[in-house]
Amino acid sequence: MKQLLQRLIAPVAALIPFLRAQQADAASKAVDPAWNLSEAEWKKRLSPAAFAVLRREGTERPFSSPLNEEHRKGTFVCAGCRLPLFSSKAKFDSGTGWPSFYQPLSNAVVTKVDFKLIVPRSEYHCRRCGGHQGHVFNDGPRPTGKRYCNNGVALAFIPG
Ligand SMILES: [Zn+2]
Repeated sequence: MKQLLQRLIAPVAALIPFLRAQQADAASKAVDPAWNLSEAEWKKRLSPAAFAVLRREGTERPFSSPLNEEHRKGTFVCAGCRLPLFSSKAKFDSGTGWPSFYQPLSNAVVTKVDFKLIVPRSEYHCRRCGGHQGHVFNDGPRPTGKRYCNNGVALAFIPG
């Protein structure tokens, strides 16, 4: 009986990561229509460096962002649409040269799997404007064990 059950469940279980990835992919396109801007409009709003990261999924050079050294209390917002993404409470020094957080604010980012470096990585982006922020890894500190490795140029800091 147990064997039969395993035989039935295994193919379905194998599909789950695939289905999840598909779902996240579809969700990332369904951005807030008010923020569904054209490429020209984004270029006008953003610096070339922010455009390269947010709209082209680029990665800034490590240790290039002043937000690495930002230790005040406050909120990190999306540089594209100003949606609050991270609290300063969740920031930690990962030593990687990119601002790092152990968790995003609730309902702030959406994750999808990318295969740019062949090995699958979890890319995440702003829920509202769809702008690429960074990648999330499973080697972060407690309490979540996650490391949200964020491009500083994709964020703005609001103290307080
Ligand atoms: Zn945004």
